[in-house]
Amino acid sequence: MPEPDTYYTRPMPPPWSKPLDVERVSRGAVAFEFDIALEDLARLAARADQVGGNVSGVVRFGRHDGTAVAEVVLHGTAIMRCQRCMRPVSLPVSRSVRLALLQDAGAASAVSESLEPVLAAGGLISVGELVEEELLLSLPIVPVHDADTACGLVSFAQEAQTPATAVSQRPFAALGKLLSQK
Ligand SMILES: [Zn+2]
Repeated sequence: MPEPDTYYTRPMPPPWSKPLDVERVSRGAVAFEFDIALEDLARLAARADQVGGNVSGVVRFGRHDGTAVAEVVLHGTAIMRCQRCMRPVSLPVSRSVRLALLQDAGAASAVSESLEPVLAAGGLISVGELVEEELLLSLPIVPVHDADTACGLVSFAQEAQTPATAVSQRPFAALGKLLSQK
């Protein structure tokens, strides 16, 4: 059997990764500010071809009709790899949502429509999990540059040097070039 995720064996886990007791923080109306590097979010990093940038904001816990809720406000920029030209693409992220924190999925139907249900297994959830959930929902699975101009300029330059077929078979050569430009 392979070792479990090494994330949990780091000597100093960031405060946002700490599991919080949902009942306690919602009754105490506790708020947490955060600033998270996207590469530190394991599920997001595993889904994306490449991810960087950071988001900051605040999570405010509270109650709504007897349900634990979390208001998540986050702003930042995700840097992902454009799946068309293989260069970095900056994606602004801005979210403001109210989540219902549920201990089991069966309770989702009882939640007010203005709240987005999120599962807090065992009554625990971390600020990082809430932020990551929102990023997974809002960031594209296949990131590409917004306008054709950004990608178009690159492929025009690349095609001048090599046939298009050779470029598409060597995505990491393009990445290496891109990294050396930093
Ligand atoms: Zn592109």
